[in-house]
Amino acid sequence: MDCIFCKIVKGEIPSSKVYEDDEILVFNDLNPQAPIHFLVIPKKHIESCNYITEENKDIVGKIFLKIKELSKEMGFFESGYRIINNCNEDGQQTVKHLHFHVLAKRKMTWPPG
Ligand code: AMP
Ligand code: ZN
Repeated sequence: MDCIFCKIVKGEIPSSKVYEDDEILVFNDLNPQAPIHFLVIPKKHIESCNYITEENKDIVGKIFLKIKELSKEMGFFESGYRIINNCNEDGQQTVKHLHFHVLAKRKMTWPPG
């Protein structure tokens, strides 16, 4: 399967890793939009939010708990942060492997573009 995030998981493409366990990989975004901008992905390929099911839904909770943990370690638990998931064309999803952007250490604006 030609998925760049699966290739990052397999180590075929280098990444700046922030955290890794059996199920989750966290790495810095190549094109950061904030002083802290990393991506959190399930190692198992899930195409998008549209493919979250009863069978694979637990990974989403694990990802959010890991984000909370990292926010404490990286010092933005109190100041705040933004978690973003882009889905399909209107959401401007460019990589079709489920991922959550985490942006922190600057004041975000609303509404998003
Ligand atoms: P999205 O537009 O939500 O699909 O986000 C894809 C994100 O992946 C973008 O923010 C890209 O900058 C980022 N990205 C693409 N390729 C890489 C890579 N090889 N390493 C790290 N981040 C990447
Ligand atoms: Zn993939």
